[in-house]
Amino acid sequence: YESLSVAELAKKLHREPSEIIKKLFMLGVMATINQELDKDAIELICADYGVEVEEEVRVDITDLDAYFEQNEENEQSMEERPPVVTIMGHVDHGKTTLLDSIRHTKVTAGEAGGITQHIGAYQVDINGKKITFLDTPGHAAFTTMRARGASITDLAIIVVAADDGVMPQTVEAINHAKAAEVPIIVAVNKMDKPSANPDRVMQELTEHGLVPEDWGGDTIFVPISALKGEGIDTLLEMILLVSEVAELKANPNRSAIGTVIEAQLDKGRGSVATLLVQDGTLRVGDPIVVGHAYGRVRAMVNDIGRRVKEAGPATPVEITGINEVPQAGDRFVVFEDEKTARQVGESRAMTAIQASRSEKQRVTLDNLFEQM
Ligand code: GDP
Ligand code: MG
Repeated sequence: YESLSVAELAKKLHREPSEIIKKLFMLGVMATINQELDKDAIELICADYGVEVEEEVRVDITDLDAYFEQNEENEQSMEERPPVVTIMGHVDHGKTTLLDSIRHTKVTAGEAGGITQHIGAYQVDINGKKITFLDTPGHAAFTTMRARGASITDLAIIVVAADDGVMPQTVEAINHAKAAEVPIIVAVNKMDKPSANPDRVMQELTEHGLVPEDWGGDTIFVPISALKGEGIDTLLEMILLVSEVAELKANPNRSAIGTVIEAQLDKGRGSVATLLVQDGTLRVGDPIVVGHAYGRVRAMVNDIGRRVKEAGPATPVEITGINEVPQAGDRFVVFEDEKTARQVGESRAMTAIQASRSEKQRVTLDNLFEQM
């Protein structure tokens, strides 16, 4: 404690204030009951009672983002990590079909008998190299998470149907990706259709600054048919190529930090959250703060529904064991011990309650003005 009044200190020590005043007097300090004591005086009194002064936790409890920023690493502990990819594009241009197609052709073939549990993200393995796909609607991932300054994607695939061309949500997707400063790969979809016109797509995208390599630009265009599974391998190769250039790295040997992809309340399991580990390794038993929730990781399930004990960088994993349902885009941080996690979690929850209270008050005042 930086400072406490005599009365406050007495209360903490379960003593009468008069006794503290007396002790201070013996130590040559004249004090009244409301007098503020500095750190040295507090320590002196505590030492006299044989009580150790606990250092208060000094973590930035209101801002997990700030905690992220502090996340400086030395180069030596960094290792290559998989890219995190979001698929975006206009409605009906084939995002879901593409995600399904990639998953069915590539999800760790043979495992779990092809039955995949939906956890909002999945990983594929291409000759030993992994790619993480966010299986949430790309726009939601970008808008809610971007709005909070929490960018989690390394690469955006913009799907454009070759028979339909650039549409409003295509442009929106491009703008989101540009704002997030992530590289874009264009997947020109529905190439199996007789009415497919890829040249028109390229022409239209050029107007939005996406110029194909063949035309002297630096944007990769991959013609595909998500429905027929054609061009998917090339698309995956291009993703790996672009991410190699980006030199994505993380340190698997630190405590985990990351972002919430999805979360909901499960009748049997309580709060369930899909987390994307962005740095470090998350383990069962880790004390964790997730947004305004906290707890200990009770169980973890991977993208194919298997129980796992740990999850490294760029791995999506579903966890249970936290006391509340967090929101998509919330940050999570693992702490050394559960006590710290609880303190940070509770403080964050309090801050949120206070913020919503003062918001309510402000609204009430506004209403008052309106009535006048
Ligand atoms: P989303 O809204 O972007 O997720 O689009 P969907 O994946 O739901 O696809 C919309 C429709 O387009 C569905 O009827 C798909 O079967 C169809 N579709 C998607 N990809 C292809 C493709 O490569 N070729 C053809 N012919 N149809 C496709
Ligand atoms: Mg869809």
